[in-house]
Amino acid sequence: MKAARLVEIGSPLVIEEVADPSPGPRDAVVKVEFEGICRTDWHTWVGDWSWIGLAPALPITMGHELAGTVVAVGDSVSSVNVGDRVAVPFHEACGRCSYCRAGRSNLCDALEFLGMTHDGGYAEYVNVLNADLNCVPLPDAVPFDAAAALGCRFMTAWHALQHQASLRAGEWVAVHGVGGIGLSAVQIGVALGAGVVAVDIDERKLKAAREQGAAATVNARDGDVVEAVKEATGGGAHVSLGGLGTASLVNAALMSLRKGGRLVQVGLTSKEEQGIVGIPLDELIEAELTIVGSVGNPHVHLPALLEVVGAGRLDPAGLVTERIALDGAQGVLERMTGFDTIGFAVIDRF
Ligand SMILES: [Zn+2]
Ligand SMILES: [Zn+2]
Repeated sequence: MKAARLVEIGSPLVIEEVADPSPGPRDAVVKVEFEGICRTDWHTWVGDWSWIGLAPALPITMGHELAGTVVAVGDSVSSVNVGDRVAVPFHEACGRCSYCRAGRSNLCDALEFLGMTHDGGYAEYVNVLNADLNCVPLPDAVPFDAAAALGCRFMTAWHALQHQASLRAGEWVAVHGVGGIGLSAVQIGVALGAGVVAVDIDERKLKAAREQGAAATVNARDGDVVEAVKEATGGGAHVSLGGLGTASLVNAALMSLRKGGRLVQVGLTSKEEQGIVGIPLDELIEAELTIVGSVGNPHVHLPALLEVVGAGRLDPAGLVTERIALDGAQGVLERMTGFDTIGFAVIDRF
């Protein structure tokens, strides 16, 4: 089969002919129908995140945002069958540790990451580990393109707003950084009945946010983000979503909250910060602000999300802006260097 492989950090991906995967006893091989290109792949490509232990052994086939059809299952797989249409969360969990048993499989003690700890979906086929848990059946009403976008960015935004920030109807949410997760968060925030303010430095992304229903947008290049968000929300957002882990963005996200507000942070840091970002601690105390982290989405919450998507109340496929062939992935990664992608680019031809 064909695969786009990361052979050397920072060098262009190499399209290679590699052996088709065959499933281990508990695994399933999935024919990839759609594979999203996520900023995490860009971070992997440029060699970020070694400081939190996320550095793949090379060469590797990247890609962790996929949906497809099961074509082979291992002998010990019981609930997944050849022909099943499935989505795969990027974090494959064990299903047996204390976190998995408590419904927090995104925090699994034995997490594996598609395209990071083993070969992912920039290929015709992918081997999904522990398939009974990690191959999530797709309702008929959810097409593959919607499901691919679900596997990372959309489900991450859902978990962040719905569970970690407990966003409620009638509240204001300020989305700081309208990348893939941010644009998903705009759509989800609107669907949850919140007023959404989107913040970015790219007018095209702010326009996309307005198209998804953002009530107000703020161009961070135009002046004081904090003041602008406070004005748009009548005194500050109830919830901020931090879509990137840069120091200035985290600070603006925190300071644009009203008293008692919650910052839910989904964006990891980059080489500049290497995991460490200063925060205005006194403000956090005096205004009783909360900072909560959010990573991925526990498996137990996926069926409900798929149901909402199937019912047409959320439209992740509507965020897909580019459908490309496998050999187009490199170009998307290169444009990500300048934050020059809008919405989701997905590979649909291998
Ligand atoms: Zn991702
Ligand atoms: Zn586990």
